[in-house]
Amino acid sequence: MILDNIIEEIQNAEDIVLLTHETPDGDAIGSSLALYGALKQIGKKVDVIIPECPSLFNFLPWHDQIKDVGKEEKYSLAIALDCSDIKRLNGFANYFEGAKTKIVIDHHGSNTMFGDYNFVNPASSACCQILVTLLEYLDVSINKEIGTCIATGIITDTGGFKYSTVKSETFEFVAELLNNGINISDIYRKVLQISSKKQFELRKIAINRMEFLESGKIAFTYITSQEQENLECGTGDHEGIVEIGRDVENVEVSIFLREQNDGSYKVSFRSNEYVNVSDICLMFGGGGHQNAAGCTVNLPLEQAKEKLIAQTKLYLK
Ligand code: 5GP
Ligand code: MN
Repeated sequence: MILDNIIEEIQNAEDIVLLTHETPDGDAIGSSLALYGALKQIGKKVDVIIPECPSLFNFLPWHDQIKDVGKEEKYSLAIALDCSDIKRLNGFANYFEGAKTKIVIDHHGSNTMFGDYNFVNPASSACCQILVTLLEYLDVSINKEIGTCIATGIITDTGGFKYSTVKSETFEFVAELLNNGINISDIYRKVLQISSKKQFELRKIAINRMEFLESGKIAFTYITSQEQENLECGTGDHEGIVEIGRDVENVEVSIFLREQNDGSYKVSFRSNEYVNVSDICLMFGGGGHQNAAGCTVNLPLEQAKEKLIAQTKLYLK
């Protein structure tokens, strides 16, 4: 069984590097830090590498252990978490490719299975939820610190327990965390409710120019790199904008473009009911889940908009 192989590889590894996807979210960071804490608990030598971790996650245990560069020599084991595609490891793919053994732990249906061992469960609401099973196998006790990281991933990736990816199992895991003294409401408030002033200002800009197309079934908006610069925005400050459009009555697909420093656009897609936005994003070299996906488009704004909308129209009823 694949879990047995993974446990064996972890037990035999001399040193381990944990990697996750670019522009990391709560599940990427939560699963990386939860596994970091767990591997430390069983006496492993571990590096956790996360590029540009948003400061909102500074309350998490071990966040001060996060590195933005690894060691030069090869690691004996690399584990990629919450990452569907080796391209999304961005500048860190070399640590993955260079390692003697490579493991992928993920919950994206579009995962390309780029490891030697791929523990991928698209039915899982978050990568953090998959870790619960792995940690049981590893005989690691889910203490308050590890539990806080796991709860963070589950809360953020389920939008606060409201997506259809939530199963009774999700609540069972979270009930267990609550029983172990993890403060779910405090984590919820920190990761989903509080917004910084900059975030608020950025949302105002995006809301003001939001358009409703195709009889209101598509919501579309964007922010430029100049606007992000003016507000001195950091990673993660755009989080939540794409959901604003999705939550308007009759909208099926919400599209949000964020201009990056090189002029390309990072695109976020969200859908409500029937459109599989992961399929749309695959057409642009991206991917994700049925109701939340993304891609990068290297075109001027108007052309990018036209192409994205034309493709989306094909999926509307
Ligand atoms: P977000 O819009 O929050 O950046 O991403 C939504 C979901 O789509 C996440 O699960 C994320 O991992 C996935 N995703 C976003 N951008 C890309 C991309 O460029 N490629 C792939 N494969 N998945 C993406
Ligand atoms: Mn995730």
